[in-house]
Amino acid sequence: MAWVLSEFKSRQVHFDFKIGIGKSVQIVRRFSVSPLHIQMEKNCIFCKIASGEIPATKVHEDDKLLAFMDIAPANVGHTLIIPKKHHEILTDIPDDLLKGITLLTKKIARAILSALGAEGFNVIMNNKEVAGQVVPHAHIHIIPRYRGDGQQLHISPNPRAKTSVDETAEKIKKFL
Ligand code: 5GP
Ligand code: ZN
Repeated sequence: MAWVLSEFKSRQVHFDFKIGIGKSVQIVRRFSVSPLHIQMEKNCIFCKIASGEIPATKVHEDDKLLAFMDIAPANVGHTLIIPKKHHEILTDIPDDLLKGITLLTKKIARAILSALGAEGFNVIMNNKEVAGQVVPHAHIHIIPRYRGDGQQLHISPNPRAKTSVDETAEKIKKFL
């Protein structure tokens, strides 16, 4: 007599409560949950968009990834790409999934250039609050750029960071 994990299909996991021995085993109760719900982080807005609980204007969807329009676009065509499964930041994402995210970023950036007449684009990923991450579910921003669009997305040099470049590189290399 026990709860056993009996089936794991793409959309549902089934746990069966079975009784009996050998050929007389009977399923007396079945409990099913969706994998997406197992992976969902409570109160995560992007998990809710991934599960369809909250609407979004989607441009791509497959079983692992979703691309949708940013609700407060920095420019016309500002698109977000997310893994459907909850991962907080880039370093949490498994390699295979990250590969898929990168290829989808390229595909959507290409479509943006063709469809919207953008002359360039920024790919931005904020990781952790200190870096400006507001939604703690990993996401890539593709922000199309148009000449004279007035966006200020440049990185400003910090003189304090320049003093120890070689030493800093050595520190990083020890962890690679
Ligand atoms: P972050 O600062 O975390 O890198 O960016 C989060 C982005 O998500 C912001 O650009 C914000 O406008 C967008 N965003 C936040 N909530 C929603 C939402 O409910 N729907 C959509 N489509 N975008 C959202
Ligand atoms: Zn999430």
